[in-house]
Amino acid sequence: MIFNSRYLQTSIEFLKGVGPIKADLLKKELNIHNYGDYLLAFPFRYEDRSVVQKIRDIQSTNTSVQLDGTVVSMETISGKNGRKRLTALFKDETGFIELVWFKSIKWVQKSIQPGQQYRLFGKINTFNNKKSIPHPELELLSNINPSQSAKFVPIYHATEKMRSKGIDDRLRKTMSLAIVHSLQAKDIPENLPQYILDKFNLPSRIVAIKELHLPSNIQALQHAQNRIKFEELFFFQLSLFAQKQWRKTMFKGYTFTKIGSYVNRFYHDKLPFDLTTAQKRVIKEIRRDLGVGIQMNRLLQGDVGSGKTIVALISMLIAKDNDFQSCLMAPTEILAQQHYQSIQSYTTGLGLKIAFLSGTVKGTKRKQLLQMLQEGDIDILIGTHALLEDPVRFKNLGLAITDEQHRFGVKQRSKLWHKSKPFPPHILVMTATPIPRTLAMTIYGDLDISIIDELPPGRKVVKTVHKSEAQKGKVYAFVKSVIDQGGQVYFVYPLIEESETLDLQNLQQGYERLLEYFPMPEYQISVVHGKMKPQDKDIEMQRFADGITQIMVATTVIEVGVNVPNASVMIIENAERFGLSQLHQLRGRVGRGADQSYCILSTSFKLSNEAKKRIQTMVSTNDGFKISEVDMEIRGPGSIDGTQQSGLSDLAQVNLITDQPILRTARLIVEKIMEEDPQLIKPAHQPIKIYLEAYHKKYKSWGKIS
Ligand code: ADP
Ligand code: MG
Repeated sequence: MIFNSRYLQTSIEFLKGVGPIKADLLKKELNIHNYGDYLLAFPFRYEDRSVVQKIRDIQSTNTSVQLDGTVVSMETISGKNGRKRLTALFKDETGFIELVWFKSIKWVQKSIQPGQQYRLFGKINTFNNKKSIPHPELELLSNINPSQSAKFVPIYHATEKMRSKGIDDRLRKTMSLAIVHSLQAKDIPENLPQYILDKFNLPSRIVAIKELHLPSNIQALQHAQNRIKFEELFFFQLSLFAQKQWRKTMFKGYTFTKIGSYVNRFYHDKLPFDLTTAQKRVIKEIRRDLGVGIQMNRLLQGDVGSGKTIVALISMLIAKDNDFQSCLMAPTEILAQQHYQSIQSYTTGLGLKIAFLSGTVKGTKRKQLLQMLQEGDIDILIGTHALLEDPVRFKNLGLAITDEQHRFGVKQRSKLWHKSKPFPPHILVMTATPIPRTLAMTIYGDLDISIIDELPPGRKVVKTVHKSEAQKGKVYAFVKSVIDQGGQVYFVYPLIEESETLDLQNLQQGYERLLEYFPMPEYQISVVHGKMKPQDKDIEMQRFADGITQIMVATTVIEVGVNVPNASVMIIENAERFGLSQLHQLRGRVGRGADQSYCILSTSFKLSNEAKKRIQTMVSTNDGFKISEVDMEIRGPGSIDGTQQSGLSDLAQVNLITDQPILRTARLIVEKIMEEDPQLIKPAHQPIKIYLEAYHKKYKSWGKIS
């Protein structure tokens, strides 16, 4: 949220009672520089102080109470450890309760006047069956003006450091009152049209902000909170829409009008299966994008195994039919190699010139390749981020595809844009990370989204079971039977950075134990982990892919895209230590062939509730979208790949899980406005237009995805 008013840009140090030292602390601790920042640091919770209880009625511990009464006796007690505490008895007409202070004892002792009527506020604590109130707030009843006393009290955040310098909740209340009371209408102009406020029963912007600091009652407070959330989501999404439009007017693109011999011959002679309905739909969406003379910026989402590669290939064939080059970039050497191999085998005999480039391609081979690329003797270039390097120049790059794009940095990706002139290449970004649809539209609102929501037919669902360590013998026996029938098996070990050495030990021990059960030369075992040289890793992966080894012992390095259809069983050791999306990605490595596949989640006996939930989720469903929803529930939306760079963190007041209804409402309104008045010309939309310009200035982030 942004304020442009002069008053709200006043430095916080000029507020009465603040001064340079406290101002400095507010800057450091809460990033509050001026009055406006201060207003936006809303209370983090509210307490209902509309009722005054009686001591007799106090029930449970840890609840807040408000009492009227007198302090009847005070006593300083020295504890065993030599630390003093101050206790006092508080009395109303129904009974007594003990108050206790461990800090600021002298000051409290001096300031309390026994016999006077006080209003007390505090939290009940129970120790040895005895109730007390530690560090209560006390206010002389005679000082409380009944008409002004707040019923619903905001509580502000204050760090230890702030409190030690006198900036506590009380001072923060005083500060916010001082600012709020001097606010004028021009300081917080309305940025939403009246018809929207009316339709959704939202208070004006200034009323909402005042209400959050000075709530009149719970209903009004909730309306105010809704208003602020709506505003955040509305402008966030509107800004994404506007960026998308802006991009579409700014970035003219190549027009691929032809569907020619490459696509046709591939479709009729080479395609080894029928495309799924979802694949057909997505290809149609891409074809349409490529034909309209505007740069495509499309995200292709599809669960592991949903068949994204063939979509990528057909898109590249469209480029070829229109005499353009294309490239496909993958985040790891293994993945890039796999794409290279499968695309080559899909297209043998078509006469396509396909090349591979990664850091491992060196010397004259590299030189030749770069030369051919520049002269247009290569149609499709597949590789790792080596494609981004400056010497990699195309003759006419028309389409750039990235797989698992979230593994590339924003800057890296933007390099692709500059590899083509006069227009940037069309961009297709593929991801297997399923994101709940509403969230995807929010995160990637400036991209067009295609979703493959259907697996190829005949795919057997991977059976997932949960086994404890104690059942290891049975698991090994099962593995043996699978291998003896010609199958292959993964054993996956966790590798979490902080305990890397320990984890490697685990993997090593696991490997040795497996060697006992599966002795050489009858059985062959591959080991792959992140500490190995890339070449060694590749050799081992290849041995497994070629069926030379039957068992692959690995860390999560195999998570991404590896495709060995004959491997039908995966045992995940210490499965409780993996996150949900990681488990789902891992499981996607099996179930790629004709055999019934299994995923065995092996854990210790004792599991945290959260771990139990993860395991249960994995056992009960194979649906990546469902899994990502549970993941979001457990870990919050920040956990989902892509959210960090999306600007979602600017949504200070919004909880993307509980506020989904507001998100949807805001989105619908944004869509309607963009449809009816895309240039924001209507008088009613002027407040939006003015605010949006300021918003863009602050959160300018064009083209942040690709
Ligand atoms: P991902 O979306 O995970 O990248 P892939 O493109 O690697 O999936 O496809 C997974 C497997 O499914 C591959 O072996 C591929 O040949 C196969 N496949 C893809 N589309 C179909 C289809 N329509 N019918 C049958 N098999 C398919
Ligand atoms: Mg893939």
